Amino acid sequence: MQKASIYLSMSVFLLVISLAWSPGPKKQFWKGNMHTHSFWSDGNTFPEEVAYWFKKNGYNFLLVTDHNILQEGEKWINADRNKSIRETYDKYLEHFGGVGLDTKTENDQLHVRLRTLKEYRSEFEVPGEFLLLSGEEISDASEKKPVHLNGVDISTLVHPAGGETVKECLRNNVLAIEKALAKDGHPNWIIVNHPNFGWAMTAEDIAASGAWFFEVYNGHPSVNNYGNEDNPGTEEIWDQVNKIRAEKGQDLLYGVANDDVHHYHEFRIGRANPGRGWSMIRAESLDSESLYKSMMEGDYYFSTGVELKDFNVSSRKYVVSLIPAPEVEYKIEFIGLLKGEENAKTLATVNGAKARYKFSGDEIFVRARITSTRKKENPYAEGDVEMAWLQPVRPK
Ligand SMILES: [Zn+2]
Ligand SMILES: [Zn+2]
Repeated sequence: MQKASIYLSMSVFLLVISLAWSPGPKKQFWKGNMHTHSFWSDGNTFPEEVAYWFKKNGYNFLLVTDHNILQEGEKWINADRNKSIRETYDKYLEHFGGVGLDTKTENDQLHVRLRTLKEYRSEFEVPGEFLLLSGEEISDASEKKPVHLNGVDISTLVHPAGGETVKECLRNNVLAIEKALAKDGHPNWIIVNHPNFGWAMTAEDIAASGAWFFEVYNGHPSVNNYGNEDNPGTEEIWDQVNKIRAEKGQDLLYGVANDDVHHYHEFRIGRANPGRGWSMIRAESLDSESLYKSMMEGDYYFSTGVELKDFNVSSRKYVVSLIPAPEVEYKIEFIGLLKGEENAKTLATVNGAKARYKFSGDEIFVRARITSTRKKENPYAEGDVEMAWLQPVRPK
């Protein structure tokens, strides 16, 4: 909610327009995934199959984020490189036909040109129903550790910026993506990805990065969301980052959930499948400007299954209500850092579908988390239940 002021200062003209139209259209939740791969890098299917899966499964927006590439220009794949690619190609023809598809044969092997986002997006996008955003997973490394970030709604390719340390590398890449986003009128629509992949990032690294979003939840099986005996999980990192940022008077870091899909054929634990975690952005309309504005304001939550009815924060309280599923129980926790304390902790727990936390005045920040008793289907890890997370706020 601190970020709102920055956004507004950069969009005074739009603000004036929107005030003139007040009371504008009602906000609603838009479901989206902001991390997917395709044949444009190391995903195992055509980009149209990715869009098809998410649209068919009730998502409203999708960000395509292949490694260090935008889905533009000319790229060919060898459909006969192995049996799996050929089967994927056959399935693709069944779904979409082959009209307009460029193919060629080299050394008796079939090669297929991948269609660009510009070529296929109009076949999927429906105003007010489904939106495709252009993105890139800038995939860098430092100190032999992966440093990956997503540039959201980016239209200029960003090359990995490098850096002597993970901290420096992260900061350099944030600056590089910011520069590219600024061209499109978006400052800092950047997500720091899977901080525990390769145990790459510390809270200090992320706090100093300048990024405003990061993946608390990533559905890829190799990303260590929950930490281990030597390393904190991503939720703990989140609170540590915000402790550092609050001490410096900086913007709080907001979280997202993403699938980081690579595998679209075989669905099981151990594969990076779609449908594990998503964000629900409360925005006036389904377009990048509205989604971006709401994310900057923290007006969204992320989920692995729990659906919220409403949430709001005033100077006195943080209120959350959810849409209960039959025979499922819910625990709503308010987690925060109190003044003078080292670590965030659970400040209040409510069992049920509604909860209200009244600020005492001692909180530095407070966020909310909902845990259900319903088992997650095809989970990130064995035993996962459906959950949801809301953004941290600083009581005024
Ligand atoms: Zn990655
Ligand atoms: Zn990825």
